Parts: sequence; structure tokens; C-alpha cells
Amino acid sequence: MIFLDNASTTKIKPEAISEIERSHALFYNPSALSGKSLEVRKEIDAAKQKICKALGVDYNNNLIITGSATEADNLAIFGSAKKTGDQFVFGAGEHQAVFASANELKLRGFNVVFAPLNKFGEVDLDKLKEILLKPTAFVSIMHVSNETGAINDISKISRLVKSFWPNAIFHSDGVQAFGKIPTNVLKLGVDLYSISGHKVGAPKGIGALYVKNISKLKPIIYGGGQEFGLRSGTENTEYILAFSKVASNFEIEKSYNHAKKLSNIVRAYFEGKDGIKINSSTAASPYILSLSFEGVRGETLVHVLEEKGVVVGTGSACSSKKTTNRTLEAIGLCQKQIEGAIRISFSNENGEEEVLKACEIIEEGYRTLLEKLR
Ligand code: PLP
Repeated sequence: MIFLDNASTTKIKPEAISEIERSHALFYNPSALSGKSLEVRKEIDAAKQKICKALGVDYNNNLIITGSATEADNLAIFGSAKKTGDQFVFGAGEHQAVFASANELKLRGFNVVFAPLNKFGEVDLDKLKEILLKPTAFVSIMHVSNETGAINDISKISRLVKSFWPNAIFHSDGVQAFGKIPTNVLKLGVDLYSISGHKVGAPKGIGALYVKNISKLKPIIYGGGQEFGLRSGTENTEYILAFSKVASNFEIEKSYNHAKKLSNIVRAYFEGKDGIKINSSTAASPYILSLSFEGVRGETLVHVLEEKGVVVGTGSACSSKKTTNRTLEAIGLCQKQIEGAIRISFSNENGEEEVLKACEIIEEGYRTLLEKLR
């Protein structure tokens, strides 16, 4: 099977598995007082230091471990939502973890505004500037789009936000960026940055939120006061250690170049072919490619391809009325192109030959499906 849906999740890495196995012996509660517990606490702090290093900072009480990036996004947003009034700004193409939270904020009486995207899938900076003319409490713009791979220039955007509203809190969802492109949070100028384990070969069910200043955030989970009171609940030692192991082995440049090679193979294969459109801009992250196959439904194509041994993602979600995709709509694709969208996403595990083979299978699957529908 050729797995090209790595933006949805990745295969757990052997070093993560062995770290989980090693940590089984470290079962003591890190908050208890025994010497063994203290050892576990030290292991967790060392692990957090490694994750922070991958974020370009020293661990200094500035990383909150969560059960997922969805939770990290929720903590960033609801933990910053103190008073209604000044606006909360979100990119129009944010992942559901942010988008649904933004909609919930709106229901709770907050002033929520969405910043439109340009045709490349990035937040439109001119439109964002217009939005920022009004008093702003919080801005959340994702680093890399999970749909198109579009990269937002987060350091530029954070400077822009702070130039308008120095006290505004700036959050970025870095899930599709972490381990793939440089994610130095100091250079990015973020106050809050969400990451996820299972997108980079660590287990599912672990994420983290980098928090520049923990005193500005309030918890969304209450209890025993772990994680500086911001995320109560006994720490998941096994997964924290596994995540940190993976994060300390990142080879950003090498992996990026590999993904770029794979992405170029797909681009070169499909470029200019009848009925097929490459939706991702060439400036996007090479790990994610959105393509549209006109005349078929993306989800049907995905099933056809799975039968032929190729796993890709859909680029759209079906509601009862029509097939929608906020991001693809926002970048101006027509309904047919949205309906026929699929998402190809790579990891280090993929090789050049299998990607080329997958392209042939995808094209053949598409043409056959199209024929059947005629
Ligand atoms: N944000 C982005 C951009 C994502 O791609 C994902 C996962 O699909 C998430 C957040 C949610 O991550 P998790 O599965 O860890 O909750």
C-alpha cells in the first residue's frame, strides 16, 4: 500500500515505540513526592526541553502538554478569551480545531472576525490590515494550511498585529509546520503556538502549546493544577517522552528537500493534464498538495484509489446539501473543482518510485471513473 495521507496522521516511529517501552518503568506519578516520582519529573522536564529546542527556545515553564493539538488550539483560544468587546481575528482557512472554537466564541458573545485568503491560500495581508484597524484582543493564523500547504509568513504577520495592537495575543497553529519547516517561535514572534505528536511520527493523543507568558492564559481544564495550573491531569509520561524523542531527531532541511522532490514528481506528472488542476501554490509546503479532478467526486476517487493500493486524503467534506471545503472555496475554486479535490501528503517514509507509481494509479483511476460516469 502506498500511503500518501501523512497530513492526516503518520506511522509511529520506531524510536517513539522504544521510548514508550522504556518509559513503562517510569510509572510513578510525577507529582508525588517519592524519589522515583522526582526522577519521572526530571525526565518530563528534560523531554519538554527537547520539544522546546525544536521550537527554538529553552524550556522555561513555557510549554503546556495537552492531549492533542485540538486541545492546544482550544486552550490558546478559550484561555485567552477573557472579555468580550475587542475583536478576535481568525484566518478563514483555519483547521476545524480553531474554526469551530471561533464559532463557539461567537456564540458566547465575542466579536469574531475571519480574515480572507488570497488565491494562494495565504491570509490576505491587505485585508488583514483593514481588519486590524479595529481594536483587537487576539489573532490566530495557522502557519501551514492542512488543506493546501499554503505557508503564512507568521513573523511578518505577528509584527503586523503587534504594530497595530501591542497587547493583542497572537496564536498560530503550527501542526503542519512543526518538524517540516523552521518553527523558531522567537523568530515567528508568536505568543502561542500549537503542535501535535501524530503528524510527525509520535503517538496520537499528544500535543503541546508553546506559551510565551503563562500568566496571560487561563485554564480550560481544572483539577490538580499540573502544567502550572493550565492543564490539570496526571502527565502522560510515556507519550511526552516519545514525542520529545521524535522532536529531537528532526532533520528539517533534509526532510524538506525530500518532500520537495516528491512534490515536484507529482506536479510534473499532472501539470497541464486534461481535467486535472493543481491547487497548491508552488510557494506552499511541499509536504501537502491539493489537486482537483473535474467531473468526479474526491471521496469516490479516494475509495477507488484505496482499492488500487493508494491512500490519499479527500480535500472536501460533504454536508447534506453540497460538498464544501472552506479553504478551497476561499481561494476561489469553483464547485466542480472543490467536489473533485483530493489531498496528497508526504512523509520521509515515502520514496520517489512509489510516488510516481501512485501518480499513474491516480490518473488511471480518475480516467476510468470518469468514463464510468459518462
Ligand atoms: N491543526 C491542524 C492544522 C491540523 O492539521 C490538525 C490535524 O489534522 C489539527 C490541528 C488537530 O490535531 P490533533 O489531531 O492533534 O488534534
